[in-house]
Amino acid sequence: MTQHYLTSAAYRDLTIHSIYAMSDSEIHALFARLRWGSTTHQGCPACGAWAVHYSRPQRRQWRCRECGRDFSVTSATAFASHKKPLRSILLAAFYYVTGVKGLAGLGLSRMGDYSPKAAHATLGKMRESIFRTQDFTPLTGIVEIDGGYFGGKPRKPNRRGRRNHQLIADRLAGRNPERQRPWHRSGTTRQNWEKRRNRRVVMIFREKGAPGEGAIRSIAAVASAEDDHHATELIARYVAPSATIMTDESPAYAGVSKTHEHYAVRHSQEYVSAEGINENQAESFFSRLRRWEYGVSHGVRPTYLADYANEMVWREDVRRHSIRVQLEMLLTKALTVGHSRWWRGYYQGKRRGTEILMNKDLHHSGPGKGNAQ
Ligand SMILES: [Zn+2]
Repeated sequence: MTQHYLTSAAYRDLTIHSIYAMSDSEIHALFARLRWGSTTHQGCPACGAWAVHYSRPQRRQWRCRECGRDFSVTSATAFASHKKPLRSILLAAFYYVTGVKGLAGLGLSRMGDYSPKAAHATLGKMRESIFRTQDFTPLTGIVEIDGGYFGGKPRKPNRRGRRNHQLIADRLAGRNPERQRPWHRSGTTRQNWEKRRNRRVVMIFREKGAPGEGAIRSIAAVASAEDDHHATELIARYVAPSATIMTDESPAYAGVSKTHEHYAVRHSQEYVSAEGINENQAESFFSRLRRWEYGVSHGVRPTYLADYANEMVWREDVRRHSIRVQLEMLLTKALTVGHSRWWRGYYQGKRRGTEILMNKDLHHSGPGKGNAQ
């Protein structure tokens, strides 16, 4: 059996110890290189001038040769106006990439120099950076598609006999149980019953690599249901016409053969059909997202579900890279995405507040009016 990548020395090419061994200047130089791809030149965030700008070493800033404005390595990035030293951000990014099932804000605040709120916002900024820099160009070759339901699970009634008691009470009182409110019929409260409204489907699209390579690029979107309407729209957007599509036998994909070569695997009978049709890559994505749901988040609400689904897409797609490479990829995203739109001022009430369905408005979802939750 081949060695699992996560146990190999090649994967573990960066540790907490090596981060602590770096000097402040080395960390600053690392951020500059990841932001600008250069150790000598900087791009002014105000006017865009690309030059060796005047260095202001005391403040670890630069002054633009063109417009004269001062800027730092984090100006106009997801980490703009951060109060933490760069080392803390670097450590947070390290914990983020090594927490392969996702990292809870409380987990980061236990390990790093962060209050629970600051940890929550910092992780939110990293997730946003991944989401907003995601490559959404259509997938080619063999593409697996599947949907998985998340959220919206009412708690089970806490007394086992309650449903029967309710039925008996209804009968004695001459009430027709069929005409009762649905939450009464299932022996629960209206509030609990209405959690069903929070049920969403995460649709996953994964392009397969060479045999044995697994999936090489993936796209996820959150929809209100796994049906023909949503599937058709997302396939038109995310799958090239030349691609071959593999799905399960859900009726949502009944129309796929009109636009693409299409194979369906029957889950009830087989995991891999005789022709090698399977959905293993989609399953692998859902197992990661499911482990996050049960083990890290302890409950999903729709507002940020798309953000988390895209985080897991990224984690799946970079799984064969080393810790150092993943960390540099993540920081590059956060340093080049621009200002955070969803997490800057989160605790001052500037929240997105709305969920992102079908990846719509991804590029102009500013902070909402504020939504206490
Ligand atoms: Zn400038």
